[in-house]
Amino acid sequence: MSAAVPHRSGAAPAGSRPAEARRSSGNSWRVDLRELGRRAGSMHELDRTLPAPEGWKVELIGVPEGAPVRLRLRLEAVMEGVLVSGEVDAPLVGSCARCLEPIEDTLSLDVQELYAYEGSTTEETSDEDEVRLVDGEHLDLEPMLRDAVVLSLPLAPVCDEDCSGLCAGCGRRLDDLPADHTHELSDPRWAALAERFASSPGTPGERNQEEN
Ligand SMILES: [Zn+2]
Ligand SMILES: [Zn+2]
Repeated sequence: MSAAVPHRSGAAPAGSRPAEARRSSGNSWRVDLRELGRRAGSMHELDRTLPAPEGWKVELIGVPEGAPVRLRLRLEAVMEGVLVSGEVDAPLVGSCARCLEPIEDTLSLDVQELYAYEGSTTEETSDEDEVRLVDGEHLDLEPMLRDAVVLSLPLAPVCDEDCSGLCAGCGRRLDDLPADHTHELSDPRWAALAERFASSPGTPGERNQEEN
């Protein structure tokens, strides 16, 4: 029997704050396992919707902070720990990597992850960063779900598989422009004229001296 004390003492600057104080800062992603117990085969369904934490994103797309994340998970006590499996749905917001149009989408993911008991064979035979652990009587779903979500996000999301991107000439969306959209090279004489007008300094001089 291992004493189920979460080893997280030290470090807290305010010194002797009880663990409850930190826990009540609202980590609803932590699941209480006392009801599930440790008897292999015991099972618990979890159906909840939680606001997304920050950081569930990659450069161009992600789950907006606070957006509703729906969890439908099954927690199953097995010999080595707790097996978590099920579905996660979360709204996505981002922009198209080709044309920069806003994208809205819904992410639906299947997850499956073993949280090993401390002292279990799985824990002892795995590298520290390869195994998730049951933390005393709890397990924290957030890091596992964040990893699953972030890994599934596209690095180059598109508004449409066929998105043609932006016109190199004018920067507008090609899909919004007629199919024959091109930029004619203008007659060099007109170009020179246009340039002169563009750079002529409006009404030069006169007004400066004209004080009453
Ligand atoms: Zn696009
Ligand atoms: Zn153009």
